[in-house]
Amino acid sequence: MREVITLVCTECKRKNYTTNKNKATVKERLELSKFCNWCRKYTKHKEEK
Ligand SMILES: [Zn+2]
Repeated sequence: MREVITLVCTECKRKNYTTNKNKATVKERLELSKFCNWCRKYTKHKEEK
């Protein structure tokens, strides 16, 4: 089952992206490098718990 998750910038803690993942196959927390409009650079974004 796919669930919507929120990706949070690890530097400014803002919620920049939403995506979805299949929790049946992806057990670990997502961690992606994304462009943060607030930091104005690529930062790591983590799945909000
Ligand atoms: Zn940021």
